[in-house]
Amino acid sequence: MIELSKAQEERAMRLHRKAVVVDTHCDTLMQFLPQGWGQPARKLGERGDRGHIDLPRMVEGGITCQTFAMYTGRRAFVPEAPLVAMQMVDKFYSEIAANPGIVAVTAHDEILKAKREGKVCGLLAMEGAEPLMGDIAVLRVYHRLGLRMLSFAWNYRTPFADGLGAKRSESKLPELGVQALEEMDRLGILFDVSHLADSVFWDVSDIMKKPFIASHSNARAVCDHPRNLTDDMIRALADHGGVMGMNFAPAFVTEEGKDADVSKMVDHIDHIVKLVGPDHVGLGSDYDGIGSTPAGLEDVSKMPNITRELVGRGYSDEDVLKILGENHLRVFKQIIG
Ligand SMILES: [Zn+2]
Repeated sequence: MIELSKAQEERAMRLHRKAVVVDTHCDTLMQFLPQGWGQPARKLGERGDRGHIDLPRMVEGGITCQTFAMYTGRRAFVPEAPLVAMQMVDKFYSEIAANPGIVAVTAHDEILKAKREGKVCGLLAMEGAEPLMGDIAVLRVYHRLGLRMLSFAWNYRTPFADGLGAKRSESKLPELGVQALEEMDRLGILFDVSHLADSVFWDVSDIMKKPFIASHSNARAVCDHPRNLTDDMIRALADHGGVMGMNFAPAFVTEEGKDADVSKMVDHIDHIVKLVGPDHVGLGSDYDGIGSTPAGLEDVSKMPNITRELVGRGYSDEDVLKILGENHLRVFKQIIG
C-alpha cells in the first residue's frame, strides 16, 4: 500500500468523508438467510467476524449507498429462484427497518438526502434474471418492490440472455431480452452487463441508447479474465455514458489472484481513466460474494484505503469524488430518477 505524507493522509480522509461513496455490487442479502451447516444467518445491524458487509462496518468504511443484489442462479435451472428472491426482498426491507442508521432508496435524490442526514442507504438489485421466470409482468412487479438495477444472467443461460458460462455464447439477446430492455427503459431500471457473454454485451451495446453499467467488472487488459471487460467494451460503455464498478475478487484483480492488494485493484482504475477519462469508473466490490479479498480491502470498513491510494497517485479532488461515487450517481439520476 502506498505511503502518504501527513498532509496527503488528511486530504484523503477529508475527501472520503465528503464523498458520496457508492458500491454497486454485494451478495450480502443471501447472508441474511439461514446458511445451513450450523452457520446462523448474519444480521445487518451486528458487526460480524464473518463476511464483509454489515452496518457497523459500512459506517466505519464511509459507505453512502450500497447496492444489494438478489442472486439465485447458482445452477443452470433453479426452480426455487422466485421464492429465494422473495425471501431476499423481505430481508432487504426487514433488516433495513430494524436499523435507524440505514434507509432503502429508489432514486438519486434519496441517496443525497441520506448523505446529508448522515445515513447509509441501500438500493435493491437483481443479479441474474432467474426469479423473473421469463415474464415481463414479473419485472414490472419487481419495479414496484423497489428493484432499480438488473443483470439478465449470472454465468448460465436465462430466458433473457446468455451468461458468460453458457454454451453457444456467440448468441445475441433473444426476443424476450430485447422486450425486457425496452420495459426497463420505460420503468427506469438500470441495465447491468456484468456476467454477460461477450457477444451479448455487443448486442446490448448496439441496442441501448442510454447509459448502462457493469456493476462489478474490471479491465481485461490488466487481468485477463472473462468476467473483466476488454478495452473495446470499456470504450463502448463510456460512449454510452456508462460506469463500471471495480470488483475486488482477487482473481479479477491479478492473474489467479496472485499478490492482489488495494494497489493492484487501483491499477484497473488507472487503466480505465487513461483509456476513457475519469467519468466512467466507480466501485463494485462484490463483497460477501467472494471467498477472499485483496490485502488492504479485507472488508467494507477498508474502503478509505482506495481513497488513500488515489490521493497518493496524484488524482485530483474532483476525480477522486467521481470515482468514489459521483459517476454512479450521474447514471442513477439519468436512469432511475
Ligand atoms: Zn457477480
